[in-house]
Amino acid sequence: MYAPEFEYHRAATVAEAIQLLSSNEDAKLIAGGHSLLPLLKLRLARPSVLVDIGRISELKGITISDGTVRIGALTTHWEISSSHDLEHACGIMAEAAGGIGDTQVRNRGTIGGNVVHADPASDWPTVLTALGAKFNIQGAGGSTRTVEPGDFFVGPLTTTLGEQEVLTSIEAPTLGHHQRAEYAKMAHPASGFAVVGAAVVVTVEGDVCTAARIAVGGLVPVPVRMTSVETALVGKALNQENIAEAASHASNDLQGEILGDFFASAEYRKAMAEVEIRHALFHATEVSHH
Ligand SMILES: Cc1cc2nc3c(=O)[nH]c(=O)nc-3n(C[C@H](O)[C@H](O)[C@H](O)COP(=O)(O)OP(=O)(O)OC[C@H]3O[C@@H](n4cnc5c(N)ncnc54)[C@H](O)[C@@H]3O)c2cc1C
Repeated sequence: MYAPEFEYHRAATVAEAIQLLSSNEDAKLIAGGHSLLPLLKLRLARPSVLVDIGRISELKGITISDGTVRIGALTTHWEISSSHDLEHACGIMAEAAGGIGDTQVRNRGTIGGNVVHADPASDWPTVLTALGAKFNIQGAGGSTRTVEPGDFFVGPLTTTLGEQEVLTSIEAPTLGHHQRAEYAKMAHPASGFAVVGAAVVVTVEGDVCTAARIAVGGLVPVPVRMTSVETALVGKALNQENIAEAASHASNDLQGEILGDFFASAEYRKAMAEVEIRHALFHATEVSHH
């Protein structure tokens, strides 16, 4: 089906994009179009005006300095997956980007469009939650604010981003010498979207875990921190037995709505959350496993 008719404007700057959003009540931004165009074709969105931000250079690129990775909202998954600097500074981001969709999706899809679209099956929300990322947002009159993932994602396809705001960049801490991070997902075979995804960031001194941040997504409306699993890991040696024991606490943290469909039931996804947490921890800590 063709998209409904819309007026098209191309913005040259973030300020111009915000001005166009403010002066057109029913306007929507378009970046790579990989999430928005399917919505238009399915008539799930009918904006009368599209504001193309795809050529705004201030929204593109990856910079790493003072222990922080800053990725412009318009940076594509391919640019993230192929950045050697990022692979060294925060390898989980390059790894997660490389596992998104297929070549076309990675070439056109942007990290900003991915998080603003807020599909529960997306990889970035889970990874960025585990990393403790921050979202930088610009609004009318040059106002800016910074939001953490827990305050940004509200539910499926819903965030706290205002109608006249632009996500400008995403920041995440670089991984320290003692930190390891990994993302494991059970991917839908047709799209690559996460049926269940688990992201772990652990600090390991000697062979003991001294801190952990773990999030799961795909099976829940918004990413969920696995605080019971984190607590069970801290202070323990990261061996196969302790990892399996800690992961078994996952169901304590999954008390809210669990998503299910004809491909994978809610019950199955819940069971797989524990498995993907284990996988991610085994890979992060290089514990051999079957
Ligand atoms: C076949 C297929 C497979 C996929 N597989 C995966 C997968 O395995 N894992 C995964 O995580 N994702 C997957 N995706 C989703 C893909 O990652 C997203 O479609 C893409 O990243 C969205 O970015 P975009 O630039 O195309 O956004 P657009 O479609 O242009 O925009 C999406 C939404 O974000 C808004 N928006 C965009 N940029 C900004 C901004 N800077 N500030 C404010 N609002 C903004 C738009 O208004 C719109 O509402 C898949 C998509 C397809 C089509």
